[in-house]
Amino acid sequence: MGRLKAVCLMGLFAAAAALAAAPVRVLVVTGGHDYAPSFYTLFEGHADIAARVDPHPMPYRRGDLRKRYDVLVLYDSVQEISEAERQNLEDFLESGKGLVVLHHALVNYADWSWWCEEVVGARWLWKPTATQAKTTWKHDVVQKVYRVLDHPVTRGIERMDILDETYKGLWLSPRIRVLLRTDEASSDGPVAWIGPYEKSRVVVIQLGHGREAHLHPDYQKLVRNAILWAGGR
Ligand SMILES: [Zn+2]
Repeated sequence: MGRLKAVCLMGLFAAAAALAAAPVRVLVVTGGHDYAPSFYTLFEGHADIAARVDPHPMPYRRGDLRKRYDVLVLYDSVQEISEAERQNLEDFLESGKGLVVLHHALVNYADWSWWCEEVVGARWLWKPTATQAKTTWKHDVVQKVYRVLDHPVTRGIERMDILDETYKGLWLSPRIRVLLRTDEASSDGPVAWIGPYEKSRVVVIQLGHGREAHLHPDYQKLVRNAILWAGGR
């Protein structure tokens, strides 16, 4: 009896260890914007991350995302998806799964208030509003980025110099928790933050246009940290 109990316990420990060691299952959504193939290096060589890339129009049409993925990484740039696709995305987040929004995915769904205001905490302004000019961008800016919040996502990143694209004039929610900032004049300042959504872990990283960012060791670390944290690790 005692021996059987011990065997059962060992089985439980083994199952728990296997679960802890299982890689975070990541769906990387692309489409609507071109990018350098160096982007894929962000997901290579990590035993704890298993990523699959699925470009539009298919990623939200293959059935319930909750069953197959732990974290969504968005590197797409789209405005329109069907009601059923929105529901799939919403169900995924409502269930507590993780989200990482990278660079030009910040432009997504500017008309979807729930998405911009409650989840991402930012909106791309295609037109000026009563209080704000429209959003602008600038390529190839050398920026000094520094950490403003000690957080699992910024672990190992004190400050970084990076050549990347800046965005300025996004609407930003007062409820975002800024992780990284730059003082660069062509940027809004916040370049990475935690979204306001409370049911799941949302990380937004404005950086990441091209090869210089994709291959930057600190950027690679930042994206990996974001995926692991969003996935509850
Ligand atoms: Zn870009």
